[in-house]
Amino acid sequence: MHELRLQTERQSQLVDITRQVQEAVAGARGAAVLVYVPHTTAGVTINEHADPAVARDFEAALERIAPADWPWQHVEEGEENAPTHIRASLMGPSVVIPLREDGTLALGTWQGVFFCEFDGPRTRSVHVTVVQ
Ligand code: ZN
Repeated sequence: MHELRLQTERQSQLVDITRQVQEAVAGARGAAVLVYVPHTTAGVTINEHADPAVARDFEAALERIAPADWPWQHVEEGEENAPTHIRASLMGPSVVIPLREDGTLALGTWQGVFFCEFDGPRTRSVHVTVVQ
């Protein structure tokens, strides 16, 4: 397993990690790559990375789908992050990407892998594992 380390800069921020995931498995042989986020207020997804506006639209849409002004029950002192847990689970904690025989990620032309921060800025980890 490889561990990527990220420093996020905003509360909600989709970070394109496609290149880092590809580099983490360079030369590997296997059926697929599992990308897993071990956090409760961050997730991972695959979507268009050709136009950076798509990532910004995800950030805005998720803030609207799970808004801050809701009678949330999960309240931690000094850290009211209930909606960020919901946004994280909407994206999910993992994705699986098929690996080609040459070791490259079998993503579609427009697809990229995004780390999804919802409670930043923070230092985060992403686990990258080749599945045989
Ligand atoms: Zn919390």
